[in-house]
Amino acid sequence: MSASGCVHDLKYAGALNIMQGEEVVKVVEAWRCRRCGATKVGLRGPGTMTSTEGLLELLEPGEARWVVVFWRGSGAIPPDVTAIAVKPGEEVRIETPHLGEDEFIVGSDYRLRRKIDGKEPEEVKSFPLDDVLTGWIDLSEWPPQIYTLRRHLG
Ligand SMILES: [Zn+2]
Repeated sequence: MSASGCVHDLKYAGALNIMQGEEVVKVVEAWRCRRCGATKVGLRGPGTMTSTEGLLELLEPGEARWVVVFWRGSGAIPPDVTAIAVKPGEEVRIETPHLGEDEFIVGSDYRLRRKIDGKEPEEVKSFPLDDVLTGWIDLSEWPPQIYTLRRHLG
């Protein structure tokens, strides 16, 4: 039983493949409770792994949503990705290998803007996971290209 009282019944919701050119470098996967909408997210490399490796916490339904955050590579440092659960107005810190730590504010659209000037940074891009799930993103170009297989209703 969860905090919300729901006995979660998680169903696979899809994956976002993170590519560098033709190579899959990471996979973000999501499972959603078919009763209440709680979401579990996993972040893993492209190889075969155990079912629990890379699993992040379960997010109960509410204001917070999963956001995937990408940052640009530099020289020998490759681009990378993480997933965080955020709410609009929340302040978050993201640390990247070549840019160091920076503070961000979550917008009403769940995208991250730099605290210092309210702008979307050039080097860090963020997308609500629901918008990019069932698709892929190519980090070999910057800003990265996003391709989705989402079916549009209506
Ligand atoms: Zn549930």
